[in-house]
Amino acid sequence: MKINSNTKICMVIGDPVEHSIGPKLYNSIYGKLGMESEFVYVACRIKEEQLEDFVKGVRAMGIRGVSVTIPHKINIMKFLDKIDDCAKAIGAVNTIVNDDGILKGFNTDFLGIAKPLQKFGILNGKSAGIIGSGGAARAAAFAMNKNGVKFTVFNRTTERAEKIASDFGGSFESFENLIKIKNCDIIINSTPVGMKGYSNESILNESYISKNQIVFDCVYTPYDTELLKIAEKRKAKIIHGQDMLIHQGIEQFKLYTGKSVSEDIFRETLSNI
Ligand code: NAP
Repeated sequence: MKINSNTKICMVIGDPVEHSIGPKLYNSIYGKLGMESEFVYVACRIKEEQLEDFVKGVRAMGIRGVSVTIPHKINIMKFLDKIDDCAKAIGAVNTIVNDDGILKGFNTDFLGIAKPLQKFGILNGKSAGIIGSGGAARAAAFAMNKNGVKFTVFNRTTERAEKIASDFGGSFESFENLIKIKNCDIIINSTPVGMKGYSNESILNESYISKNQIVFDCVYTPYDTELLKIAEKRKAKIIHGQDMLIHQGIEQFKLYTGKSVSEDIFRETLSNI
């Protein structure tokens, strides 16, 4: 045990939060980088009505960093001192950094979308179809806009697709027109369809996917979702939800500690959890 009186606390909050891999992941990485006396990472279940008191506690205890998950990403924003421009545009915070009592909110989810896609080459001028209109879809639309990708949002509730399209400069289609995603260079599934415990189906019909496309599934459990299995069969390039998790996490780690962790260390640690 290397924790001492100067060890800084970071944590994840959500409701529920018991399933979070954050503590195992971050504490293992601190260990690998020899930082286990500098930082410790815990999980805390916070109910909606406790959010304001929680934020006071962060200030009082000098907690260094907070990862924010469902359902608090939007509601926590009003209790913070500053919001960075990207988080403001996306309308959600997944990371809080405490600098001497000043709490600033960030959103690293959009980097989790952009970075793995950038590995496949220049994004500017490409087209994308985003399925869904929740928090992950907003991060995806923001990332597409920032990278010069023309995008179309397809969602079950069309009004929500329209809102994202108008917020981030894209177009939208009703779910009945999902077949039009065939024409997109990039497909991003930001619905929970395919997620363990939700459904084991693919959001897309096999015939909508072809070999020139990149198919990105935000769902990270299971590792190989039904959508990605189909996409692989159709010889499309694929990006796993775990890549999103890794790239948003690398940025979060840097915001908390001021240090970089390599993608290899992050990936290897994650695979051993
Ligand atoms: P969310 O805010 O609840 O939004 C979910 C969206 O999916 C909504 O637009 C909803 O449509 C749509 N949807 C839900 N069930 C559907 C179904 N059966 N058929 C068609 N559309 C359906 O969720 P979120 O926070 O954006 O998360 C979405 C997924 O991304 C989750 O699986 C989450 O775990 C994953 N995620 C992964 C990462 C990562 O790091 N890999 C990060 C964030 C999120 P309506 O608008 O019509 O309700």
